[in-house]
Amino acid sequence: MAKVTIIGCGVVGAAIAYELSRQPGLEITLVDQQPPAQGSTGAALGVLMGIVSHKLKGRAWQLRQTSLQRYETLIPELEAITGEKIPYNRHGLVLLATATSQMDQWRELATARKAQGWELDIWEPATLKEKCPQVNVEGLWGAMYSPSDRQIDPVALTQALVKAAEKNGVKSRFDLKVTDLKQLAQENLVADWIIVATALGTKELTTTIETPVDIRPVLGQAIELELPQVLGNPAFQPVITGDDIHIVPITSQESKAELIPESMTNPRNSYRYWVGATVEFADEQGCIQAQGELLEKVKQGAIAFCPELALGSIVKTWSGLRPRPEARPAPIIQKLPGQENIILATGHYRNGVLLAPATAIAVRELLSNQD
Ligand SMILES: Cc1cc2nc3c(=O)[nH]c(=O)nc-3n(C[C@H](O)[C@H](O)[C@H](O)COP(=O)(O)OP(=O)(O)OC[C@H]3O[C@@H](n4cnc5c(N)ncnc54)[C@H](O)[C@@H]3O)c2cc1C
Repeated sequence: MAKVTIIGCGVVGAAIAYELSRQPGLEITLVDQQPPAQGSTGAALGVLMGIVSHKLKGRAWQLRQTSLQRYETLIPELEAITGEKIPYNRHGLVLLATATSQMDQWRELATARKAQGWELDIWEPATLKEKCPQVNVEGLWGAMYSPSDRQIDPVALTQALVKAAEKNGVKSRFDLKVTDLKQLAQENLVADWIIVATALGTKELTTTIETPVDIRPVLGQAIELELPQVLGNPAFQPVITGDDIHIVPITSQESKAELIPESMTNPRNSYRYWVGATVEFADEQGCIQAQGELLEKVKQGAIAFCPELALGSIVKTWSGLRPRPEARPAPIIQKLPGQENIILATGHYRNGVLLAPATAIAVRELLSNQD
């Protein structure tokens, strides 16, 4: 039995643990310094923007496509194993065009995606108004609708991945801060394989290595709004995105049910939407602090797109830190140079929830190519 230790239990580490737990011949331990999904994952909106991305080929596109395809089988699989519903919005994604040039770009993208077997619809303002009456089409040039992009509750997903992995025999420990990777690797103390899925903890963990893996934080703030009525058509509740602002219909944590109108109500009979997120970089001194005015700008931007949001009351405000690799593309999925038994699965920046299933597959392949 080969021993595998996965360090980090955000959505990425959890996805890897579950994927590897389906392989025979592995003894897997999943460790974190805190309970699952408390890092970046706990702050994410869970929007899975794959088909609408402008990546047409190469690794970036392959990871997106692989993830979206895997999600369709993964969710029913996890629900069957755990017996719990995972809030997974299959209504797609509507991207609002705030500039006429976007419509031209999206027409080209739709043609390219069609050739790849994916559907993207281009909506003129009248169609947008008909499909999504909650949107104020004034000032908009139209929209692109992607029926295959998704949104998922990142915390519920991570918890389900951990539960399913444990059912498949993975051992977990959520009270251990791993401090010295080099020592573990050199002395082979813990495992034949070490998977580093530590996001913002990666730099500290790799400082003893010749070239530490530099992952830096980019802050994001978001809010949850409670509304007295559903926005638009109750039977069609896609994520609506404009100018990088997401309006995300959510199911209540309590019901964890399918996204259907009735289930969007929580026990107090209201409707909830997440709105976010800001993108805030550190200053020259490396300090990073949530700026209230940026969150207000996001909220006002969302209200400009969907005026009824102004009727909502804020029930929750939060922020989190996205793990962004310094001076290299996200994410990093590779063997640590010079350390054949250490695999990095880190630095997913703005798309860790989207890319977690594809990352897990890539890690499994790195492991099995070794044999
Ligand atoms: C506001 C916001 C909105 C976002 N929206 C989206 C979105 O819509 N879609 C999307 O795909 N992505 C989104 N993201 C990005 C997404 O959250 C991240 O890319 C993703 O969560 C990264 O997952 P992870 O498992 O790598 O990291 P994390 O969730 O941060 O997990 C890393 C874990 O490693 C542990 N760890 C670190 N160091 C150590 C150590 N030395 N020893 C033990 N444990 C350690 C930490 O405790 C943590 O639990 C958003 C992020 C933010 C902040």
